[in-house]
Amino acid sequence: MDGFLLAYEGFDSEAEGLREALTSTGNGYLCTRGAAEWEGADDVHYPGTYAHGGYNRETTMIGGLPVLNEDLVNLPNWLVLKLRIEGEDAITLEDVELLDYRHEYDIRNATVLRHLRFRDRGGRETTLTSRRFVSMADQHHAGIEWTLVPENWSGHVEVISALDARVSNAGVARYQRLEGRHLNPISPRTFGPEVIALKAETRQSNLYISQATRTRVFRGGESLPAGRTLDQMEDYIQQVLAFDVRQGEATRVEKLVAFYTSRDPAVSDTLMRAARSAARHSDFSAAFDRHSAAWEELWRTCDGRVSGNEQVQLLLRLHTAHLLQVCSPYTADLDAGMPARGLNGEAYRGHVFWDEMYAFPFLNVRLPEVARGLLMYRYRRIGEARAAAREAGFRGAMFPWQSGSEGIEETQRVHLNPLSGRWEPDLSHNQRHVNAAIFFNIWNYFQATHDHAFLENYGAEMMLDIARFWASIAHFNPARERYEIHGVMGPDEFHEKYPGAQQGGLANNAYTNVMVAWLCDIAAKLPSLLSASSAEGLRARLSISGDELALWQDMSRRMFVPIHENGIISQFEGWVDLEELDWDVYRAKYDSIQRLDRILRAEGDDPDRYKIAKQADTVMLFYLFSDEELREIFERLGYGYRPDTAARNVEYYDQRTSHGSTLSFVTYAGVLAAIDPESSWDRFLVALGSDVDDIQGGTTKEGIHLGVMAGTLDLVQRHYAGAQIRDSVLYFDPRLPSGLGGLSFRVQFREAPILVTLNSDLLTLEVQPEGASHEIRAGIPGDVRELCPGDRAVFELSQDRA
Ligand code: BGC
Repeated sequence: MDGFLLAYEGFDSEAEGLREALTSTGNGYLCTRGAAEWEGADDVHYPGTYAHGGYNRETTMIGGLPVLNEDLVNLPNWLVLKLRIEGEDAITLEDVELLDYRHEYDIRNATVLRHLRFRDRGGRETTLTSRRFVSMADQHHAGIEWTLVPENWSGHVEVISALDARVSNAGVARYQRLEGRHLNPISPRTFGPEVIALKAETRQSNLYISQATRTRVFRGGESLPAGRTLDQMEDYIQQVLAFDVRQGEATRVEKLVAFYTSRDPAVSDTLMRAARSAARHSDFSAAFDRHSAAWEELWRTCDGRVSGNEQVQLLLRLHTAHLLQVCSPYTADLDAGMPARGLNGEAYRGHVFWDEMYAFPFLNVRLPEVARGLLMYRYRRIGEARAAAREAGFRGAMFPWQSGSEGIEETQRVHLNPLSGRWEPDLSHNQRHVNAAIFFNIWNYFQATHDHAFLENYGAEMMLDIARFWASIAHFNPARERYEIHGVMGPDEFHEKYPGAQQGGLANNAYTNVMVAWLCDIAAKLPSLLSASSAEGLRARLSISGDELALWQDMSRRMFVPIHENGIISQFEGWVDLEELDWDVYRAKYDSIQRLDRILRAEGDDPDRYKIAKQADTVMLFYLFSDEELREIFERLGYGYRPDTAARNVEYYDQRTSHGSTLSFVTYAGVLAAIDPESSWDRFLVALGSDVDDIQGGTTKEGIHLGVMAGTLDLVQRHYAGAQIRDSVLYFDPRLPSGLGGLSFRVQFREAPILVTLNSDLLTLEVQPEGASHEIRAGIPGDVRELCPGDRAVFELSQDRA
């Protein structure tokens, strides 16, 4: 193992869906599951292809009511390559005796490989090796290479190379009753003897998608003339290549594909564009070399090295690769958000939640243009966010909990409980805290980059309108002399409302209220950070008065935070009155109690009644902010913040959290880094393995959990290396767990590239000579230095901290 290979030996039909999701190949524009080229969608295989922004809406009647859903569309299957030996049926895994089977994902260049040796019904033994990539060197290209070696026979074969638009969204069993047809066929076409192409259109959003492919056969480096026949229907086109193979000799088949949609710039007709591109495509090896070189460049920026644990190294790289497959430099140019489940499956319908909050810290200091692109996805939807605020009776901008193509609220109003088979109301759209996350992401992007142009042109406008929204949803309670927020949910999705209440939402979710206190302080100061003309322009455009700034300032001092009598922060007001759950009863009764909400509802009970949490809620505060920052926020609010506030709250909520979202393991691992390093490490390992080990028992095959994958990278950077930007200083306050011998990674802080190396005794910062010409300030608490390009600074770490 060289630290870059995920490998599976032997075929396992039960695990195939999981493996497909984990071996997806993508380039930040387009992503395709690691399905075998010769298999169609069925209970075992699911060859899904998704592109950023490829959404479509369909209506389904449920219980007599129309339910509208927007989905990330499964696009035509470009993978299809099938092998027919001596005129027999095309080979499938079920029909042959597998003598050898290996499925790999080469993390270094995001390539999916399959190596098979099989005996067919005629006793012929054949080796087939397949390599596939989606190009990081050209976002519109992808390629498949097959190498065929007949082991004990010579004869005639046919290879079917097809583009197949007869696909639907059928990757998630729970959504099966929802409309899954999203594509209408437009036309198949051929361009010369080699190129076949296909165009389809999404049924409602009228997005054109075209694919074109050129398939060639080679032996011994020479192109092998193959007979070609064509079959085409309006939603399917195939070319059959016929040729002879010889015992022991390798014959290669190359299928190179071009992919365009009508969202692409510089395109008139997507079909013509794709066909032209496919015809011009270089052969596989040249295209693959360029693709590998592009990945190598990405790794130079994004690789993190850890010593002490090879599996940890491997999984961190796997997570980095998956993040880059969804958020690459190409993504920066697209109007794309970060779908919670990547572009690897159909769970959560490709929607964008708050999960990007776990990815920004990594992207901000490595690929800031990508982070900026994700923020622009929000900015372009500010109009809808303003309309949503207005329609709900508020001011400013209220971004949706689940966002898709247009930035309107995409959260479903009913969802299926797979345990009970019942459709249940879904009130999770009340998670307004996504608006605090967007504010947090903009501010931290600015802290890392000092991108004044972004802040002045887009960022500040979003921040001010978000602060305005919070000020309008909040109200002043004269009895308490504090501001309160009612009718919202925190990140914990087990509590959508008070027990027995008709109305959704809760009062004074502590996480939300503290975030609002924090952001109001920044919003009130924001105009003073902008150039005078920008500040003036923005204030005039948004009609922001001095009174409004004063109100935000006041909110930063007087938001209400519910606190139990014993000093524990209450997740929301009234939490103390809820019942304790007898966890042992449920642990004894069920194999997994992560989704206690579904269990309780299926039993006719109600999770709203109990002091239980699906995931970190109050505890998120300790994940996002350092102890010093929280002390500042709490003291400004006039609440006490004790040295053990973090430890006591984390312990209290840990006992009451089921970690029904794997994001929760990341959060707890982060907050425990300083409190209980052993326990932090255990949680980190759970988060790290949560997708490869599919710990939720079947969710990963529906799409990776990109927030968790990114979160493990965030955890290493912000909690184990302790990297944090405060007052224009890049601080490191390391908490290296004993499982990690050392760390090294590169970051870019305000245009200065820095190599960070860390072990338990020393932190070394090397400012690379290229990049920014200005000096930066970096160091550890109590020892901050000014560093110029070419400088190397070594910091000794005191033993009790590292
Ligand atoms: C979690 C949310 C998360 C969403 C998408 C849910 O299960 O509770 O916090 O945003 O999944 O990943």
